[in-house]
Amino acid sequence: MGIIVQKFGGTSVGSVERIQNVANRVIDEVKRGNKVVVVVSAMGKTTDELVGLAGQISKNPSKREMDMLLTTGEQVTISLLTLALLEKGYEAVSYTGWQAGIRTEPIHSNARIVDIDTKKVNNSLENGKIVVVAGFQGATLDGSITTLGRGGSDTTAVALAAALKADKCDIYTDVTGVYTTDPRYVKKARKLYSVSYDEMLELANLGAGVLHPRAVEFAKNYLMPLEVRSSLEQENGTIIEEEVSMEKSLVVRGIAFEDQVTRVTVCGLPSGLHTLSMIFTTLAKNGLNVDIIIQSTTNETETSISFSIKTTDLEDTIAVLEKNREELQFTAIEHESGLAKVSIVGSGMISNPGVAAEMFQVLANHEIQVKMVSTSEIKVSTVVDQDNMVKAVEALHEAFNLSVIENEEKSKVNV
Ligand code: ADP
Ligand code: ASP
Ligand code: MG
Repeated sequence: MGIIVQKFGGTSVGSVERIQNVANRVIDEVKRGNKVVVVVSAMGKTTDELVGLAGQISKNPSKREMDMLLTTGEQVTISLLTLALLEKGYEAVSYTGWQAGIRTEPIHSNARIVDIDTKKVNNSLENGKIVVVAGFQGATLDGSITTLGRGGSDTTAVALAAALKADKCDIYTDVTGVYTTDPRYVKKARKLYSVSYDEMLELANLGAGVLHPRAVEFAKNYLMPLEVRSSLEQENGTIIEEEVSMEKSLVVRGIAFEDQVTRVTVCGLPSGLHTLSMIFTTLAKNGLNVDIIIQSTTNETETSISFSIKTTDLEDTIAVLEKNREELQFTAIEHESGLAKVSIVGSGMISNPGVAAEMFQVLANHEIQVKMVSTSEIKVSTVVDQDNMVKAVEALHEAFNLSVIENEEKSKVNV
């Protein structure tokens, strides 16, 4: 008898019928002889609605109060699912994140899990109960309620699976697995049979919203086998694991993208040794995240630095730079919004030079201008006009042969 952690996202628990369906999926796993811990999200769009409510009262709401508000969403689901399981004749108990021993760092709205005390969950499992835990939430050592960042229920599930030494963690969602790119935008996207932890980490960090990046980090660090699968269809999903055999001619595994990108250029900076560190220390100290950075030395005394940020951070970024204008000594700030980041990811790139060149060629052939570039061993990211985002993804999807792909037969086997 093993321990299985199952996680069901918002759409999968979006109505009473869906919750009944989830209860049945949980019971299936119990009938296979496993002890089951279920992590659930808030129903449907509840979290967005709660954010909207707060927005009607406060323009810049207190993060502490937002955590208090948003954690109620998951609490509704745990009790309803537990009631459904009890009605079906199965012993079950629900726990909030803090009751389940999930301790986080003392940061509101985007806290990391630092420790999980599994005593309560383990005791309940020992007593033959199905344990239902609220995702996305925890508490600090002094008892303040925190949340793990949007999409954080995935992380609750994987972290719990690691702490409980579970055999497997299954992420049930509204798609049948991880696709070559977001199937909501690209019709030709194909389900992948398997993806490596490193590839999934890049995809998740670069905008593939199907998994919370920190969930993948946990899975990689604890070598926790992860499967992303459908809560409605009875078919195998995508396995995320350490090593994945690469398809012969396939160097790119998937394409991720995100919009709402802005490029900021700080002009007329002194070209001193400390200019770069001063700018980015100033931004970091103010909690502003910067993505791609490009420095161009204009002449011996003057330089300019461009970097990309989330468009929602533009106002704060300009305010922080302006506040420190005297110290930083720049002459002007320019910015361009309406941009998007499109990234190709695949471990096959390590042994295949020329992938970036091919990407640029494809984009050029489609008359898509590349405004910024960044690369790592297994990814190439480009910043393009937001209007060209989907066109770029579709072109790259074709060029890198992602529409015709691997063991589709394997993924059709019913389980
Ligand atoms: P949940 O509420 O179950 O956590 P999410 O909305 O967070 O579900 O994640 C599932 C969604 O992720 C899908 O509906 C899909 O639109 C999106 N997505 C983005 N990139 C991918 C990808 N590469 N493969 C599958 N889904 C993706
Ligand atoms: N309910 C939270 C959100 O919508 C957490 C999650 O679903 O993972 O972001
Ligand atoms: Mg999600």
